[in-house]
Amino acid sequence: AYVVTENCIKCKYQDCVEVCPVDCFYEGENFLVINPDECIDCGVCEPECPAEAIFPDSDPKAADWSEVNRQYAGEW
Ligand code: SF4
Repeated sequence: AYVVTENCIKCKYQDCVEVCPVDCFYEGENFLVINPDECIDCGVCEPECPAEAIFPDSDPKAADWSEVNRQYAGEW
């Protein structure tokens, strides 16, 4: 799955949400998250993010954020 990381905090862009074919973005406390169970790994959102906050979960930059995404995505 793809993962939203710290650059998204307080980001006001929603470009990623608009392009996601399965609508798996959810609102976290002050940033967006991706529900890893719904993400189909299409990769469309990654280049669309103006804050460069989205990485595949295989990327080291996503490491600390995978669980955070899962946690917040499950709250809604
Ligand atoms: Fe949505 Fe594709 Fe991004 Fe996953 S990789 S969050 S399915 S746009």
